[in-house]
Amino acid sequence: MNGRRLCLMGLMPEQIAADLALKPYQGRQIFQWIHRKGVFDFESMTNLAKPLRERLKEQCVVQDMRIIRTQTSEALGAMKVLFELHDGERIESVLLRDGGRVTLCLSSQAGCPLNCAFCATGLGGFRRNLDPGEIVGQALLLLSAGEVPREVSPNVVYMGMGEPFLNYDAVVASIHLLMHPEGLCVGARRITVSTVGVVDGIARFANEDWQVRLSISLHAANDELRSRLVPHNRANGLAQLRNALRDYGAKTGRQITFEWTLLDGVNDTAGDLREMLVFLKGLKAFVNLIPWNPVPELSFRASSRANCIAFQQGLEQAGIKTTLRRENGGDIAAACGQLRALQEEDLKSEI
Ligand code: SF4
Repeated sequence: MNGRRLCLMGLMPEQIAADLALKPYQGRQIFQWIHRKGVFDFESMTNLAKPLRERLKEQCVVQDMRIIRTQTSEALGAMKVLFELHDGERIESVLLRDGGRVTLCLSSQAGCPLNCAFCATGLGGFRRNLDPGEIVGQALLLLSAGEVPREVSPNVVYMGMGEPFLNYDAVVASIHLLMHPEGLCVGARRITVSTVGVVDGIARFANEDWQVRLSISLHAANDELRSRLVPHNRANGLAQLRNALRDYGAKTGRQITFEWTLLDGVNDTAGDLREMLVFLKGLKAFVNLIPWNPVPELSFRASSRANCIAFQQGLEQAGIKTTLRRENGGDIAAACGQLRALQEEDLKSEI
């Protein structure tokens, strides 16, 4: 709610109809205006009767967030947007373009509690979970701010601020909103959820009846180093993570993407590669190698190009499909360590 007003962005058509005591078709009409047509002004919802439009204006808002800053890089084909939410919290999202392809990178939390060593978001601490409307609202407002034609079906990655599986229910609800046939109708295989490896979230995700893709921010394959880079590893060590992924693979048959940010002298050696190969053995894996993009407050250095290529070759020689992203650079690269390195290569991982 916004004060006394009902916020519609996070509601399914049947919820809109129920909450406003409308006919089911009216719930669908309002949902279509918001999610399919990107129309947020009730007065412009011309197939609704005038009295209903007046009532919606009095009792409802479409969304409760606004864009307060936009930063665009033509070279990277990226637009980063800073949103302010109804309570003053701020989150970031990114729209990436590659030819005709559009990818939206969404946040699932305001801030993040997990404090990964290479991540700017983690430095700021955790504020709160986002609700489904605040997650899907990022997508709709990004598409409109980027003037993306409605016929373009975007790819969506949950790699912005926050750990999606610590806000599981809202993330799943937002995915259903994005996939809804009366709305944006994003194909499940165009959606990727990225986690540092919250094992109960992985187990729940395996039971979802869809083809939404799973990505794991791995970055190290021995417990000592991974706990340093991704402190959540202390809660769910690598053995537990591997078991969860093995079960996920057995249950779904789906490929899993692994993200590995290459840090000079930290996780880019032949020994690191060997450990990674042991961890991946038996999993249907695709690997995204990510060159480190410096964050001023952090002291890591990027791996040399030669080390990056050697790491990639080692994986490919072991039969593992691998992408080595080109360097991103620049402050457009957004909030999160994962997000900062995001590029369209993610989408090539689909078999
Ligand atoms: S990398 Fe992701 S999970 Fe880790 S601290 Fe940053 S936002 Fe949180």
